[in-house]
Amino acid sequence: MFNALVLEQECGKTIAGVERLDLGDLPDEEVLVEVAYSSLNYKDGLTVTGTLGLVESFPMVPGIDLAGVVKESRSDRFQPGDQVILTGWGVGERHWGGYSQYARLKPEWLVKMPAGMDAKMAMTIGTAGLTSMLCVMALEEGGVTPDKGTIVVTGAAGGVGSVAVSVLNKLGYKVAAVTGRESTHEYLRALGADTLLSREEMEKPSEPMEGPRWAGAIDTVGSTMLARVLAETDYRGVVTACGLAGGLELPSTVMPFILRNVRLQGIDSVMCPVEVRTEAWNRLLTDLPKEALGDITNVIGLSEVSQAAVNILQGKVRGRTLVDPNK
Ligand code: NDP
Repeated sequence: MFNALVLEQECGKTIAGVERLDLGDLPDEEVLVEVAYSSLNYKDGLTVTGTLGLVESFPMVPGIDLAGVVKESRSDRFQPGDQVILTGWGVGERHWGGYSQYARLKPEWLVKMPAGMDAKMAMTIGTAGLTSMLCVMALEEGGVTPDKGTIVVTGAAGGVGSVAVSVLNKLGYKVAAVTGRESTHEYLRALGADTLLSREEMEKPSEPMEGPRWAGAIDTVGSTMLARVLAETDYRGVVTACGLAGGLELPSTVMPFILRNVRLQGIDSVMCPVEVRTEAWNRLLTDLPKEALGDITNVIGLSEVSQAAVNILQGKVRGRTLVDPNK
């Protein structure tokens, strides 16, 4: 028997509770993983609280990412004892996920842990950190090198934003961090932000074109903030859009694209091909300063997830939250 957080549907409402399960309760997938850590992402906030109806079938074990050790495998790609990482593929939404001491998973969803990384580090980074790295790689692919100018990071004190600020700083970029919380200024400076901007200023509706300020952007917020970032991006700049913490609409115009050759690059970590994820995990090992990880992280147990899920949707969580299912 083992512990898992289980979502049930009662009178149209999603209820989350810690339950004792048996290995026989798990889905019949090829690889059994003993979970060392999962983490809390914005999407977990949505699934655990039942917001946006992302989970369609119940009972569901949430947790969109996990790291742990293979216990049993019917696939020749993994052997008992292998350390693995899982992010995305609809796990924790459509397939049982990481808020559990054990998970059964498809081999094609799993990435081997890079040498030099452990489960705690992998989940401190988690889906949020992987997404940040995919954004940084997209900036590089678009030719945005540190000499081109400042990169603006929105939702900077959140999980994606915190890792992005830290990695960009390590790579030599100048970083402008946008945050709605003054209390996070010192934290963001310590991660490597050169300039701090208020959410209030950056979410104001913009003109189709504003004075150019940014060589590139990592946007986790969407809506009027993404529209402003586009309007303020310099010639041939690249704006990576990965999130919707401020809303899913985009009240923009074509002007930044046709007059400044700005590129808007979508970023998705969920269905990202394994080769690209593997490259991103290896880059995180070298390009995310290890000393930043301690500052970024809090650890909670399964019984604390429900409250943390509400907090992350309210923008109250700083950095990354690890979920230890054995706590
Ligand atoms: P967090 O909640 O940790 O961070 C989001 C941050 O956005 C908050 O910390 C806050 O930062 C800011 N924010 C919150 N509410 C608002 C608001 N109403 N208006 C403006 N800013 C706001 O979430 P994550 O970092 O885990 O995820 C960020 C976004 O990226 C989410 O939308 C998530 O769904 C998305 N995402 C997408 C992925 C993909 O594959 N495309 C993968 C992972 C995440 P501050 O206090 O500094 O202002």
